[in-house]
Amino acid sequence: MVKFAYRCSTCGKRYGRDEVRYLCPECGRSYRPGMPLRGVLTAEFDYRSIRRKFRRTRPDWGLFCAVEPRFFPPFEMGATPFFRSAALGGAFGLGDVWIKNDALNPSGSLKDRASFLVAAEANRLGEGTIVTASTGNAASSLAAVCAAGGKRAVIFVPQSAPKAKLVQMLLYGALVVPVRGTYDDAFRLSLEYTARHGGLNRNTGYHPLTIEGKKTVGLEIWQQNGWRVPSVIVVPTGDGVILGGVFKAFEDLREAGLIPRLPRLVCVQAEKSCAIHRYISTGRYRNASNPATIADSISVSVPSNAHLARAAVLRSRGFSLTVSDREILEGQRTLAATSGVFAEPAAAAAAAALGKLLRAKELRPREQVVVLVTGNGLKDVDAALGNVRIPAAIAPTEAGLESVAGRLAEKGPP
Ligand SMILES: *Cc1c(COP(=O)(O)O)cnc(C)c1O
Ligand SMILES: [Zn+2]
Repeated sequence: MVKFAYRCSTCGKRYGRDEVRYLCPECGRSYRPGMPLRGVLTAEFDYRSIRRKFRRTRPDWGLFCAVEPRFFPPFEMGATPFFRSAALGGAFGLGDVWIKNDALNPSGSLKDRASFLVAAEANRLGEGTIVTASTGNAASSLAAVCAAGGKRAVIFVPQSAPKAKLVQMLLYGALVVPVRGTYDDAFRLSLEYTARHGGLNRNTGYHPLTIEGKKTVGLEIWQQNGWRVPSVIVVPTGDGVILGGVFKAFEDLREAGLIPRLPRLVCVQAEKSCAIHRYISTGRYRNASNPATIADSISVSVPSNAHLARAAVLRSRGFSLTVSDREILEGQRTLAATSGVFAEPAAAAAAAALGKLLRAKELRPREQVVVLVTGNGLKDVDAALGNVRIPAAIAPTEAGLESVAGRLAEKGPP
C-alpha cells in the first residue's frame, strides 16, 4: 500500500486517498468554469519513511508514486534522454545547457506521464472510461494509454487542433469529439460530461494525479544529472501543470531531505497566451482574452493550475517571461540545427526563452540550465513549414548533379 494523503492547496485541509477524487470538496464548490481551479489537491507522502528507505544505489521510485505498480497499464513511457548540448548553449551565450527530451515519449509528448498515472488510478478504481479535454497532446496521450490498457477514452478537443494530433487520437481508437470553440470550451464540456455520465476525468490539474504523473520528469532529471539539482529548469507553460509537477518533484525530494535546495523554475508562455506570466509578474490574475499562438499546446485563456504554478515559480525563486511566435519559430530552428531535436512550437518556446535568460540578467552564463522539450515537432509539421523553404527539384542529369555542390557552398559552414 502506498502511503499518502491529499492536501488542499487552497485551504490546507487533508483528505484520505479515497475520500476525494478531484478538487477539495469545500474549495472546489466555489469553482466556476472560466476561472483557474480552486482547491487543487496535492499528494503528501510519508517523507520520514522515504528518507529512511531511499537508496541512490537502488532507487525505489515507488516511494514517490501515488498508485501501486500492480495497477500500471502496459505502456512504456518516461525514462527519456537527458544530455548536454554545448552547441545549443553556445547559440545563446550560455555555457551549460542540457536537454530533457520528453518528445521521445510513445505518443510524442510529456503528457504520457500524466495519462499513465491516471490510467493506473482508473484500474485501481475499476473505471473503464477516461474523459479529458485537451488542446491535443493530453488527448493523443490518453488515447494511446487507453489503447494499451484496454480502456475507453472520450476526448473533447478544439476543432483547430493540428491534424497529426487528431490522427493520433483517432488511430488509437478514442471517441473524439471536436468542439466548435476553444480549449476552454472543451474543458468545461468535459467536466459536465463526467458530472452527468461518470467515468474518470483526466483534466489537467483537475485530477490531482496529473501533477503527480508530470512530477516524474523532475525526479528523472535529478537522477540523470548525477543526483544534483540543476540551477535552472525552463518550462513551457499553458495550464501550469507541468510547472506544478516539476516543482512537486523537487519539493518532495527536499521534504525527504534528499536535496538541499530547489532549482529555479522559469515559466515560459506565448506572448498572447500569458495569463500565468502576468499573474506572476503583477500579482493580479486575469484571463488571456485571445490566446492566439502558433504554439497550440500552450494556448490557454484560463490556465487551470494558475495558482499553484505561480506559487511554484515564486517559491523556487524563479521568474517568468514570454516569447513571440516569431521567436518560437527561431527557437525551433536553433534547437533543431544545434542539437538534432525537432520540437513542436510549444516545446520550442523553452528553447526560444534561452535567448532571453541572460538579457533578463536573472542568470549567470555558467549556470546549469535544463530545457524541457515537452512535445515532438512531427506533431505539427505545418507550423514548422514556416521555418523552411522546400528546394526546387533538380533534373536527373549530369547538370542537375553538378548543381548540388553549388547549393552546398551557398549553405555555408555547418
Ligand atoms: C501540455 C503541454 C505544455 C504545457 O503544459 P501545461 O501543464 O499545460 O502548462 C507544453 N508543451 C507541450 C508540448 C504540451 O503538450
Ligand atoms: Zn480546500
